[in-house]
Amino acid sequence: MTTSHYIAGRWVEGQGSDCISVNDPALGLPFAELMAASVAQVDQAVAAAREALHAWKQTSTGQRAAYLRGFAEQLGQRREALITLQMRNNGKPRHEAEIDLDDAIATFNYYADLAEQLPQKNCDVPLAAPGFTARTRLEPVGVVGLIVPWNFPLVTSAWKLAPALAAGCTVVLKPSEVTPLIEQTYGQIADTLGLPAGVLNIVNGKAETGAALSGHNGLDKLSFTGSNSVGSQVMRSASAQCRPVTLELGGKSAIVVFDDCDVEQAVEWIVAGISWNAGQMCSATSRLLVQDGIAEALLPRLQAALDNLRVGNPLSEEVDMGPLTSQAQWLKVASYFATAREEGLQCLAGGKALDRDGWFVSPTLYVDVPADSRLWTEEIFGPVLCARRFATEAQAIAEANDSRFGLVATVCSADLERAERVADALDVGHVWINSVQAVFVETSWGGTKGSGIGRELGPWGLSGYLSVKHVTRCLG
Ligand code: NAD
Repeated sequence: MTTSHYIAGRWVEGQGSDCISVNDPALGLPFAELMAASVAQVDQAVAAAREALHAWKQTSTGQRAAYLRGFAEQLGQRREALITLQMRNNGKPRHEAEIDLDDAIATFNYYADLAEQLPQKNCDVPLAAPGFTARTRLEPVGVVGLIVPWNFPLVTSAWKLAPALAAGCTVVLKPSEVTPLIEQTYGQIADTLGLPAGVLNIVNGKAETGAALSGHNGLDKLSFTGSNSVGSQVMRSASAQCRPVTLELGGKSAIVVFDDCDVEQAVEWIVAGISWNAGQMCSATSRLLVQDGIAEALLPRLQAALDNLRVGNPLSEEVDMGPLTSQAQWLKVASYFATAREEGLQCLAGGKALDRDGWFVSPTLYVDVPADSRLWTEEIFGPVLCARRFATEAQAIAEANDSRFGLVATVCSADLERAERVADALDVGHVWINSVQAVFVETSWGGTKGSGIGRELGPWGLSGYLSVKHVTRCLG
């Protein structure tokens, strides 16, 4: 059993009723256990954050920036342990675990810089009307609940924690029950840095703990990343209290490949978009739209590239792709393989679970998938790629936009004017042109339509934790 909740600057044991097993997905076996936080402990965490708020929001932005740089530095000092834990608990290949850690470090450093620039944003506002002056003040939103999923635990939590603390908010973070140990690092770092008690609280648990936090009337805002089904419950709780909410939800994103692409290069981008993190990415480009003139050359090479991916245990083998992170996710992906068989889809690669211990599936490619197939329309969250062909640019745009989601898209074309034009026409939050899914802290993250509300990263990520106040004075 692990002491697993960080409340008011102290580590405490869970008093909830759920026992959480922490698993190694490559073996399908648990390696740690912890007791979930009780509802009363969620109350304590929110109360601690409330108590800490007044003093924390009075700290100078320079002091807050120093803490954030401390988080970045301390993450770096725990490098090997954090890489190994992500490999073991998430099943991430080493190079992916390294990139996640570097992303989290960059996020804390970036928001340290933005915190320092905050005072300049408090400024006088020119008024057309005579006899008055006005000034703007940016203030922290207050006590914020942060609920995150398991696929990028270090990163997703950093994307919320860093801007929230930079803004002067105090927080209660609830990590996913699938990967609860990884974010404990943030509590350990808070301890090491002497972050004032209650500024950062961490409660672990399953749905009951999440619901206790998202429905808590002591919060001023909730920021949630996860599935659409839970997101809508979180939104209901927020609406009951007329409370702001940021939602980062699912996706079913398109990658559009035009005839003029270099085939090998296109294959590389397509494979990365569906096999990174074993396809467990909200941004997975799981719908391939390939132009008629290149399809015959591209599909066999894509099939070979997927078949050749080295799938295995990242802790003991050189791998390109690890297992799925949880048994539930493995069962879900397997159920889509069964649906594909029932629908009679043409499978060019994979389409099955691997015959070995652990929660492995093969990288999978279905072609000529009907637009109304469940595999074309639903988020699978695994390495399952579906392909359709198109003839014209207009058709590609229409098909790509024909989704209830709108998170990201990738456009591949040697004609850059066309690529930019298509990027502008896609109804999503982020488009890559001729690229793997490179994510930079300076650019925004988030989606349109069913993919969520609000944006993380960049200055937009900080705005989500700031409230605008104007002070208007009559001169007469
Ligand atoms: P999930 O919705 O099942 O869980 C997310 C978090 O919500 C977990 O911490 C969970 O314990 C908690 N939770 C569960 N029930 C709850 C409830 N009733 N009230 C409050 N909290 C509750 O999602 P998941 O399976 O962990 O993650 C996968 C999903 O996350 C996918 O749909 C994926 O697309 C999405 N995601 C989106 C982004 C993005 O940036 N848009 C990033 C990563 C993942």
